[in-house]
Amino acid sequence: MRVTVLAGGVGGSRFLKGVRAALRDGEPSEITAVVNTGDDMWLAGLRIAPDLDTIAYALAGVNDEERGWGRAGETMRVSEELAAFGVGWPWFTLGDLDLGTHIARTAFLHDGLPLSEATRRITARWPLGAGAASIELLPATDDEVETHVVTDDGELHFEEWWTRLRAAAPARAFVQTGVEASRPAPGVLEAIRDADVVLLAPSNPVVSIGTILGIPGIRDAVATTPAPVIGVAGIIGGAVVRGMADACLSAIGVATDAAAVARHYGPRSAGGLLDGWLVDEVDAASAAGLEADGIRTRALPLRMRDDASSVAIVRAALGLAASGSTRG
Ligand code: GDP
Ligand code: CA
Repeated sequence: MRVTVLAGGVGGSRFLKGVRAALRDGEPSEITAVVNTGDDMWLAGLRIAPDLDTIAYALAGVNDEERGWGRAGETMRVSEELAAFGVGWPWFTLGDLDLGTHIARTAFLHDGLPLSEATRRITARWPLGAGAASIELLPATDDEVETHVVTDDGELHFEEWWTRLRAAAPARAFVQTGVEASRPAPGVLEAIRDADVVLLAPSNPVVSIGTILGIPGIRDAVATTPAPVIGVAGIIGGAVVRGMADACLSAIGVATDAAAVARHYGPRSAGGLLDGWLVDEVDAASAAGLEADGIRTRALPLRMRDDASSVAIVRAALGLAASGSTRG
């Protein structure tokens, strides 16, 4: 089985751990994660790729679970040195083990390798797959397309808005710098086209999934793939599970509501992306309306507390994909 997952960082990594655990004991399967690169940036002379690293660390089991970012067991000594030199952003600390990844990535890029190859070399360090499930991480694009936030006080990098301002300055718009000339990374369109199922992780619909879909060709690939496309709501009972996705949704005029996000992605029968959609049980009442709109909808607990709860979500998504097998 070939499963392709569009994913951002934390929500994406938890979901991907569930995909891996759901497939580890079955037939050999290939999981391809198409990962958001809009949060990437140059900082202190280094190329940072937050979502790729969050996913790689989580799958490798070397992430700092408590903090929610970076590597377990790292120190801030290097970051403190950088701050003493006035280099980088004082509010954006990077642990020393994490900085090792950024130095390695920057070295690969400096040698002329594309981000996708740098990612392959970085992730080769750890087994990301498990049992019968192999996993490849593909950046959505090798090009430097960064998400910027337009506020009343000007435009700034998404990470500055998110981390320094805690999304408190109302976002008027999100822009992807240089997106027009960008292309999907090698393998991305094929992974979407040739998949048995395409899953949209419960990642931020605007600045994770939306940014991936904004790379020319990717939205079209999802809309036209013969594979069923199933999405998972990251909004439960009208609130984000963690993070500030509500601040992103309101900027694009979408309510913080699982059904509103599904309608934002749209049913494939009307040129949208979704064949199916999973909502939490507390949002079960929205299923009938979504079904009427052409999106097969199931309700079940969507909080990913551990691998077991993520596996149940993934199994429901795969079941929903199989239940409409008139396509492909
Ligand atoms: P980021 O790149 O680290 O911001 O992470 P993502 O974009 O991948 O995921 C952020 C989204 O994941 C947020 O909108 C959260 O509401 C959602 N999320 C986080 N934890 C859970 C969970 O346990 N269940 C569900 N359904 N969504 C979650
Ligand atoms: Ca992110």
